[in-house]
Amino acid sequence: MFGWTGKILRVDLSEKKIALIETEQYSDRFIGGLGIGEKIYWDEASPDKDAFHPDNPLIIMTGPLAATSAPAASRWVICGKSPLMYPETFYSGSMSGFFGAELKMAGFDGIVITGRASSPVYVSIHDAHVEIKDARHLRGLMNSETRERIRNEEGEKVKLLSIGPGAENGSRIGIILTDVAGSGSRGFGSVMGAKNLKAIAAAGTGKIPVADAARIQRIRARIKEMTGPGYFNLYGNPIALPGSTVEKKVHCHGCPMGCWRSLHRSAAGNEGIRKCQTPLFYSLWDRKLHKEVTESSFIATTMANDYSLCVLEIVFLLMWMEKCYEQGILTEKDTGLQMNTMGSLEFLEAMFQKIARREGFGDLLAEGVVIAAEKTGRASEEIAKELRMFPYGPKVFPQSALLYAVEQRPPITELHEVCTAPTKWALWHTSGGEKSYVSTEVLRKISRQFWGSEAAVDFSTHEGKALAAIKIQHREYAKESLILCDFVWPIYDNAGSADHVGDPTLDSQLLSAVTGKEISGAELERTAERIFNLNRALMLREGRKGRVDDCLPERLFIEREEPIMDVFGMHNPQLLLPGAGDEIISRKGKAVDKEKFELLKDEYYELRGWDRATGFLKKEKLAELDLPEVAEQLKHKVI
Ligand code: SF4
Repeated sequence: MFGWTGKILRVDLSEKKIALIETEQYSDRFIGGLGIGEKIYWDEASPDKDAFHPDNPLIIMTGPLAATSAPAASRWVICGKSPLMYPETFYSGSMSGFFGAELKMAGFDGIVITGRASSPVYVSIHDAHVEIKDARHLRGLMNSETRERIRNEEGEKVKLLSIGPGAENGSRIGIILTDVAGSGSRGFGSVMGAKNLKAIAAAGTGKIPVADAARIQRIRARIKEMTGPGYFNLYGNPIALPGSTVEKKVHCHGCPMGCWRSLHRSAAGNEGIRKCQTPLFYSLWDRKLHKEVTESSFIATTMANDYSLCVLEIVFLLMWMEKCYEQGILTEKDTGLQMNTMGSLEFLEAMFQKIARREGFGDLLAEGVVIAAEKTGRASEEIAKELRMFPYGPKVFPQSALLYAVEQRPPITELHEVCTAPTKWALWHTSGGEKSYVSTEVLRKISRQFWGSEAAVDFSTHEGKALAAIKIQHREYAKESLILCDFVWPIYDNAGSADHVGDPTLDSQLLSAVTGKEISGAELERTAERIFNLNRALMLREGRKGRVDDCLPERLFIEREEPIMDVFGMHNPQLLLPGAGDEIISRKGKAVDKEKFELLKDEYYELRGWDRATGFLKKEKLAELDLPEVAEQLKHKVI
């Protein structure tokens, strides 16, 4: 099998057994990554067992392009039932770094972990030699120390994923940490903790065979031409965060581009990897305390990673605690924390320790903001609901309204696809063409190629938006299955051509070159449609009620000014967008039109081949997508 090792590792921690699954039984129908992860979950997970139940699998899957010379294509997926979804349901996270490629070079395309070890263990993989090893000596250690000790035991070459104390204690907010500070959120670290699995270490010496290495090189050269001088330095040199210096850029495996990912060192000597949003998370409280962003913002993220606590959930918890404190719902006595120092490193460390030890108020915080608010009651639930953010949201883009409504998880890669080209258009518009070549005419041509019509970027109408949402979902589900990096893919525009239009088939060309099985752009989209429908089936199996759950919070239907929380708004504070002809419209302060939103849903279900009244799947569509197992098992929600 070109592009694959052909084997997925199965580790049963209860029985201490290792077995193999053939990748080939899944790869044609589900590509890899998210697609194969979903299918294994469909076959093996029990809808009625909670996220921490030993029987529920935790699945790690690489893609067919990982560890090959395909550029920015060695990401990997971690998926399973998330304890941080409400209700608990299937969720997946795309991870960066080196672990996925190393796992493949060791001879495995993925790992399915079930069971629960009787005491802490770690899995050691050195090529074909796989061993479940005692990790009692690592219990309770921070990620940094855990990783250092395992490297001492297993050798410097191993690539790791590990958990710290915040994920070992039955909390719901534990992350998995991997190389170059990649993290798997939504409680997957806690799922590892529940399995008594402290870490996985992998080192491999193999090579992944590809069908046509010369064709991959030609595609790389084409991408380089299309992206211009930015190809090897896509986001410019990383900017030093306040109070720190940039030591070096850090790339994931096989990434010639690089992004902001870089090693920083603070004045106090703390080292940490900066990713895209690292400096933003704590800056709100840093500014309040110090009147400016200081090194605390950077150190705080590194510290949360060390504990294995989800940075984003911590931010929500801080916002919720602050508002509850202001409204007298919580007191210092309740929290055991000095509330006027919120956001300082001392405050954060005390908070993290409480969560990691599940001590006092930390026991509640370890449940995540929704459950913490539910248990606290007294109007704090309303505060928690208001915290939900909508970057690239429904009030600006009608296609985002559909994406937010029908997806169970915040669909961030899909939202990036909605707004990347319009952001370049905004730069063109606001700079009079100086900062971007994506004019209205170029944007319309991109839209025709990528989203099915020019109408998709006429924001004076809802026409073309349902089809655009579907095309975006398919491309992004394919991307998560291949697995390509969201920073680089897809390539919408072309610096080197007269029309400046990118190529939506580059992903299928790469897949064909790696596997030797020719697959067109349309065929890849069809496979992605299958993966998307399987995802919908999983949601329905785990309790989603169909159309009634495909909704948006009421506050989005109310006209009001909203704080800007995304790159599109930062470059374009008036939220300008192209309308019909030469018209420019502004979405600033506008609400989602409820009636039009419901009509958009009708159109979306029709185009998807789902039942319009219920949002359930239809037998004919499942037959067309070759998903007989869904039609059979989900009878009560298939029409
Ligand atoms: S662009 Fe950044 S996150 Fe993406 S693969 Fe390259 S280094 Fe990793």
